Amino acid sequence: MVMLQKVMSGSSGEWITCVWCRLQGEDRPGYELFKSVFHEHAREIPCDDPRAAHINFVFCSELHKQYYRNSHIDMGNLPPGFRSSF
Ligand SMILES: [Zn+2]
Ligand SMILES: [Zn+2]
Repeated sequence: MVMLQKVMSGSSGEWITCVWCRLQGEDRPGYELFKSVFHEHAREIPCDDPRAAHINFVFCSELHKQYYRNSHIDMGNLPPGFRSSF
């Protein structure tokens, strides 16, 4: 069995909840393996520009990462929600 490393929040020392699970009202830890960077900046701004904003999201599984990414794209980069059709 592979040991997955939980993503810890720097300040409190507690693990960070999977973003998708949190939207569902569940409380499961996110793992380093499924960490994902979302680019919250316009395409014409390069990633290393000081104005470029990035958000790190963590997930409990590859599936939840895909769910979240798809919902994010569907919603045109608005604050994420979820659809029960999943
Ligand atoms: Zn999850
Ligand atoms: Zn970027």
